Amino acid sequence: MSSSSDVIPASQATGSGWLATMGTAAGWAWDGLKVTGSVINDIGANTTRNTVCSTATVAGGVLGGWSGSAVGAAIGSVILPGIGTAVGSVVGGVSAGLAASKATTIVTDRVLDDCNYDIETISCEKCGRGFRCKIYKEGRETLCWRCK
Ligand SMILES: [Zn+2]
Repeated sequence: MSSSSDVIPASQATGSGWLATMGTAAGWAWDGLKVTGSVINDIGANTTRNTVCSTATVAGGVLGGWSGSAVGAAIGSVILPGIGTAVGSVVGGVSAGLAASKATTIVTDRVLDDCNYDIETISCEKCGRGFRCKIYKEGRETLCWRCK
């Protein structure tokens, strides 16, 4: 990981940073909707895991998008100063944000799985065998995967 903090002022100085700012603002609004949606889902399913997971994902995506847009802006400045900086910033920010969100989702899911976060061992109503139920995903199941 290279330090990207010295690249950020360059994109702001060009004057075409408004495009990047618009992209960032739209991304934040979308992330906010995702978190809100997870909260609503979680209230219905009586769990908090989706909220925890999407909040972490959004945080990871924002951090990733930030560094990504700085790198993209730097590349764009080299190819075409001005507009290239803005385009590079948006492209870099969006792709890095998506990659970071994806990576954070996988990591968060693994960590929460290891903690058994909102995963319960339930006895199957049909065969009586215990099974692990991901409440945050499927709701409270009564039958195991063998009997469904
Ligand atoms: Zn069963």
